[in-house]
Amino acid sequence: MTNSVDLHTHSIASDGVYTPTELLYKAKEVGLIVLALTDHDTTDGLEEAMQAAQPLHIDLIPGIEINSDAGGGEVHVLGYFLEFWRPEFQAILKVLRDARVRRGQRMVELLNEHGVNISWNRVREIAHGSVGRPHVAEALREAGYVQTIGEAFEKYIGTGCYAYVQRYKLTPIDAVHLITSANGLPVIAHPIDLPGLDKLRSWLPDLCKAGMVGLETYYGPYTPANERELLALAHEYHLIPTGGSDFHGPGIHPTPLGG
Ligand code: AMP
Ligand code: ZN
Ligand code: FE
Ligand code: FE
Repeated sequence: MTNSVDLHTHSIASDGVYTPTELLYKAKEVGLIVLALTDHDTTDGLEEAMQAAQPLHIDLIPGIEINSDAGGGEVHVLGYFLEFWRPEFQAILKVLRDARVRRGQRMVELLNEHGVNISWNRVREIAHGSVGRPHVAEALREAGYVQTIGEAFEKYIGTGCYAYVQRYKLTPIDAVHLITSANGLPVIAHPIDLPGLDKLRSWLPDLCKAGMVGLETYYGPYTPANERELLALAHEYHLIPTGGSDFHGPGIHPTPLGG
């Protein structure tokens, strides 16, 4: 891997596999000099990540990923250089995480009603921080209902499956405002996957007015043609093209750290 910057990664503070410290060691191994930790709805991994980064001479950017809903489509908003310790910012993140807990409990209830016996306690143990579907998937795998995490999404908890429950989401504009309230820089994550470029094009004027500053252009599976299209869009809206792997650890996303 020749990249030296990765601006999109997850740790066990949300649904990644590695602790922030382990993630920083992995980053060093693959030759990264700049890493952003962008856990879902939590900044709880950031202090540890910053401490681990220092002796490794890696520049750690304090980040987050907020999944928002625009009615008819999702926008995942990355936030960088956050003053994450601000109490008002943390209070809103806690609301989002508490909603994740209730939604996780509901998914387990739905599975139980269909005779699939996993327990909420076990899901909560698997999740060290912000609870997500990958933790429910892991509980299903552990109990032998599926062989892989992907299979759990296909059979039980993917969109449209019986145990899928919507998560409480901010609007994209509110997600931008939340990030800028902590003096962070909001960036649109994986724009081709979600929400898709047609929808994004119609929303971009308002998102930019709200304070969006970047567009994730270099993303794991994106082809050179995808990158050209995203670069053109970034230039048109004066957005900074960024890049990241969305690394969660082995088994969750295909792209390796730094990819
Ligand atoms: P949640 O935010 O709780 O809805 O969970 C979404 C997360 O689940 C994403 O960030 C991915 O890490 C993971 N995910 C989504 N779809 C799949 C899939 N088909 N296979 C494996 N992991 C997935
Ligand atoms: Zn994730
Ligand atoms: Fe995402
Ligand atoms: Fe992500």
